[in-house]
Amino acid sequence: MKKIEIALAGNPNSGKSTVFNMLSGGRQHVGNYPGVTVEKKEGRFVYRDYQILLVDLPGAYSLSAYSTEELIARDYIIEHKPDVVVDVIDASNVERNLYLTTQLMEMDVPLVLAFNMSDVAKQKGLVFDTEQLSRLLEADIVMTVASKERGRDELLDMIIAAAEKEKKPRAHRINYGSEIEEEIGKLEKVISENGFVWGQGYPVRFAAVKLIEQDKELLEKMDSDDVRKTLAASAERIRGIWGDEPEIILADKRYGFISGACQETIKSTVELRHSISDMIDTVVTHKILGLPIFLLLMYVTFMVTFKVAEYPMGWLESFFGWLGLVITQLWPAGELLWLRSLLVEGVIGGVGGVIVFLPNRLLLFAAIAVLDASGYMARAAF
Ligand code: GDP
Ligand code: MG
Repeated sequence: MKKIEIALAGNPNSGKSTVFNMLSGGRQHVGNYPGVTVEKKEGRFVYRDYQILLVDLPGAYSLSAYSTEELIARDYIIEHKPDVVVDVIDASNVERNLYLTTQLMEMDVPLVLAFNMSDVAKQKGLVFDTEQLSRLLEADIVMTVASKERGRDELLDMIIAAAEKEKKPRAHRINYGSEIEEEIGKLEKVISENGFVWGQGYPVRFAAVKLIEQDKELLEKMDSDDVRKTLAASAERIRGIWGDEPEIILADKRYGFISGACQETIKSTVELRHSISDMIDTVVTHKILGLPIFLLLMYVTFMVTFKVAEYPMGWLESFFGWLGLVITQLWPAGELLWLRSLLVEGVIGGVGGVIVFLPNRLLLFAAIAVLDASGYMARAAF
């Protein structure tokens, strides 16, 4: 049987523990990460032909050196090089959760994203273009509802596929813009030239980026004067261009990337409905344009009904004309002329004259009813 090691990462409250239980079926061993009191949960189970070791990393919003949890999560990935990192994302709050994802992307590990809480996301009316988002993040995405054990097999199958995939450097990276990319490039070069003596397995680009961010742990581990000099110059150049600390600039760029990716791939049906309805409302209830639009609509309605009604009116007119003529012609000559006159001119002429307008009235009623109904339907649809 093949062995696969999975590390489970994610923001606090993304449902990471619930995903852990869903995957491992509750079998777990609880201990501590070495040297700290942070709990470490491990689960072992078999799925298809694979013996799987699942490790729960501490919940983290980023992979900086600021908090113990974040440091543990990142050091674990560096030291153990798990076959796959599963990033549990609260699908109802993707934008914030993706910050950690951008950090995992830079660690160059095979990534699978579990869009958990997808039931809540659906309730909120969020619709995901997972194919496109998956391309942008270069990570497979699967929707899960861990609390209902939904998406378990899909997630495990994706994990296995990711573990079996040939390891290649990522094609998509977060682009920090030409000026910063230039500095990252220079640093990567010196880091590589210096034999990565202090590197301990950090991907070169990750180390370069973190050093520019003045990452405490990496600064301490670094033992190359060349790197130090290049870094100082790079940080100075970035401060000079943006007038702010490099780590703030880099965080901004990441949020920019996330925001762009989300705008392209996540739609809120609620917002969409509101925006269309709002658009119609802004036009038809406009202070100045509202009345002319109403009058125009009414004018068009009347014109259309009159024009269309002309046809049946014409038919009715000729019918009554014909009826009057037939009666006059068939009437016995000279007999009861007053009755003929009453019938032809009074009844047929009178009734005909009124009935002729009936199609017009009916059409007008119909048109108003249709307008009214379409108003309701438009409102219901949007
Ligand atoms: P963690 O902090 O990331 O470990 O989050 P937990 O696993 O403790 O989950 C936090 C809460 O979210 C718990 O009450 C779970 O039952 C709930 N939860 C987890 N997954 C889902 C899900 O997919 N849908 C919904 N509606 N709730 C979930
Ligand atoms: Mg938890």
